[in-house]
Amino acid sequence: MKIICVGRNYVDHAKELNNQVPTEPVIFLKPETALLQKRHPFFIPTFSRDVHHELELVVRIDRLGKSIEERFAHRYYREVSVGIDFTARDVQAALKSKGLPWEKAKAFDGSAPVGSFVPLKELGDVQALDIHLTKNGDTVQSVNTSEMIFSVNHVISHVSQFMTLKMGDLIFTGTPAGVGPVAENDVLECFLGERPLLKVKVK
Ligand code: MG
Repeated sequence: MKIICVGRNYVDHAKELNNQVPTEPVIFLKPETALLQKRHPFFIPTFSRDVHHELELVVRIDRLGKSIEERFAHRYYREVSVGIDFTARDVQAALKSKGLPWEKAKAFDGSAPVGSFVPLKELGDVQALDIHLTKNGDTVQSVNTSEMIFSVNHVISHVSQFMTLKMGDLIFTGTPAGVGPVAENDVLECFLGERPLLKVKVK
């Protein structure tokens, strides 16, 4: 399986990092080894002094597809969750300044914890979901998915022009504003509506 991530998919987050609002989805990948085993702590990697949390809605692909038309994209997923796109911001900044790929900053082990999945049947419209992240009990990221620049269906259609989507692939759909550094002993919790779907202890 692969983990496909969208960068800069909320205007307020693009602005907080002084990035331009993109005209087409910005895409990067994480490997399967980025998944964090359930209930395992997240260990801050030794190569970074500035690892940020990025709360994201996560969509699980449940059907094989290539060159999917946007109007049919809704047929390719039935469940969503929330996850954290952990980012070594200092490493990313150095790579970005040289125009190099972001993988060292984004694809490291444990950089993609994902919560339990919930059927959309129970949730309704994928573009009308509230998600939020608390750090040590305080809400630091909160958004409604209606604010995405590129909708889930648009992202699926766009990505599938370049690579085949397979059952079990995950799409991290981008983070809203409020990203920030994590420190040892922080507890991060991610919610979909009022459902606490993911809890991560930082070590
Ligand atoms: Mg992200």
